[in-house]
Amino acid sequence: MKILVINAGSSSLKYQLFDMDTGAVLAKGGCEKIGVEGSLGIITHKRPDKEKYVTNVALPDHNTALQIVLKLLTDPELGVIASVDEIGSVGHRIVHGGEKLTVNIVGEEELKYLYSIIPINPLHAPPAIKAIEACQKLMPSIKHVVVADSAFYRNMPPESYIYPIPYEYYETYKVRRYGFHGTSHRYVSGEAAKYLGRDLKDLKMITCHLGNGSSISAIRNGICVDTTMGFTPQEGMMMGTRSGSIDPTVVTFLMKQTGMTPDQMDDVLNRKSGFLGISGVSPDCREVMVEEGKGDARSHLAMQVFYHYAKKLIGALVAELNGVDVLVFTAGIGENDPVVRSNICRDMDFLGIKIDDEVNLAMKRGTFGDITAPDSRVKVLVIPTDEEYMIAKETYDIVTK
Ligand code: AMP
Repeated sequence: MKILVINAGSSSLKYQLFDMDTGAVLAKGGCEKIGVEGSLGIITHKRPDKEKYVTNVALPDHNTALQIVLKLLTDPELGVIASVDEIGSVGHRIVHGGEKLTVNIVGEEELKYLYSIIPINPLHAPPAIKAIEACQKLMPSIKHVVVADSAFYRNMPPESYIYPIPYEYYETYKVRRYGFHGTSHRYVSGEAAKYLGRDLKDLKMITCHLGNGSSISAIRNGICVDTTMGFTPQEGMMMGTRSGSIDPTVVTFLMKQTGMTPDQMDDVLNRKSGFLGISGVSPDCREVMVEEGKGDARSHLAMQVFYHYAKKLIGALVAELNGVDVLVFTAGIGENDPVVRSNICRDMDFLGIKIDDEVNLAMKRGTFGDITAPDSRVKVLVIPTDEEYMIAKETYDIVTK
């Protein structure tokens, strides 16, 4: 069966077509600048055996973008399938599934629920809904599936997801921890167990997804029991432009002092904080490290704060698990940056975490690696994440069940 995976953002859309019989990616690409006034959209399309195809066309909405994607996939020269009918199902990444959606075939009820949670997910839900509805129209005879980033956290115990604020806010507004990046945490935890030849059910694991957005999860016996992101993907780790956890009173204090509106404050916390906010240089960890290397004090501080947050959160989650067997690094920073891994793991031998610095530094970027020191109690692994494959697999599993 062939599964099309769609990941829609407000002005972008990424796709990958998988052959689930072999696990191969047949083609992948993306559409950028969808609905951006006065600007042509950019389409990229790549099949493994050919040069990347890039073109500029008008992309007024997600529906048009998807029509072009399907045309490309069936194009006699650039395509990989003869007809859209070869697509067995579509898996849609949704960031937030609320309390109900995990991995679900989309019917009327599921769409209605997605609409109902727009208030708690205003950035990500509307484009996802647009893409689902467009796909349903373009491919009406197949099943469309949502795979929620929050799905991996469905079995967290209440003490992990209830915030210590008046309980009525949970009851009325569903304010609670949901957790995000779950597809990635789930994928790498499975790969780690496979590599170790162990059953997930026998392992305590901490998975660090460190990228532009960062989160850390604690997994016991294959079940995620806690994670650092919360009601939104804002809580926990410091990130590219997001603050992560800060004293909540800072928010009301700054609003009172500066007269910022809630939206302006949101903008500061989501788009002007993190690496960008502290360094003043860039949200991109690589660029901040380059400036740090040149002696820039604020870039150095930004990196130190990042390591500090990571250590503190890993420590808290290890305490929750009462120890850890495996520590995994993944995503843009976690997979690619040995210096970050080394700084986070430094002085963690009390917890049994020691990495082999030589192996760590010699690792080819973006590849699988076992960087455990010979005398480390905890296995430390670097595992490239593959959220799209995980979405394809979850989609395949539910439609063939
Ligand atoms: P992601 O959100 O997973 O795509 O990760 C983006 C982050 O990964 C950015 O902060 C990048 O600076 C960082 N990153 C990507 N590639 C590398 C690399 N080769 N070395 C260090 N950091 C990298």
